[in-house]
Amino acid sequence: MGSKTWTTKEWREARDGFLEGKVCEWCGHANKDVIAVRVWKNGKRINETKQVTLHLSPHHRKKTRLGLVPYKRIARQMFKEFKKENPEGYDALYSEAVAGLPYGNNRDILKRMQYLFSIRNRERIQVRYQEWKQLQERAYVELTPKKAIVLCNRCHKAREEGNVLCKRCGTYYHKPKYQLCYSCHREVHG
Ligand SMILES: [Zn+2]
Ligand SMILES: [Zn+2]
Repeated sequence: MGSKTWTTKEWREARDGFLEGKVCEWCGHANKDVIAVRVWKNGKRINETKQVTLHLSPHHRKKTRLGLVPYKRIARQMFKEFKKENPEGYDALYSEAVAGLPYGNNRDILKRMQYLFSIRNRERIQVRYQEWKQLQERAYVELTPKKAIVLCNRCHKAREEGNVLCKRCGTYYHKPKYQLCYSCHREVHG
């Protein structure tokens, strides 16, 4: 994710519009709701609560792969297109690569061809890459209920950590393999 996307006016508007009238899809709280949560100290629950203010924001249902640099992937894709669209050029490049690698195996030759192709077409690849990146960023800012989920900061953190909301209390979280959160488990089973 290009960090810039988060600070754009476009993103803030998309976010605010999407949030309007929505509550956290997990816990049902609205933006800026204040709830009391138990305080933990050194891994132990102590007999105190603190007030926390919840902040809602949209999160993509699927993790985005933006930023994981598919530049190479695009270069490879363009190399494949080159093979299809320009078989003669491809053959010439093959001969050139073979001449430079008399003892190379097929893999080495292919790698050399890809390398030569990428340095000679750097600008074209760069243009395609930038186009791709812009498309991704635009898609990222487009929030639809199918693509995005509204979560409060607590539920979002829990989701990132692989936890789910406890159905009994609706306040604390637990690993999906358990039925209840730790607090509810203690209350139910003593
Ligand atoms: Zn929530
Ligand atoms: Zn619970």
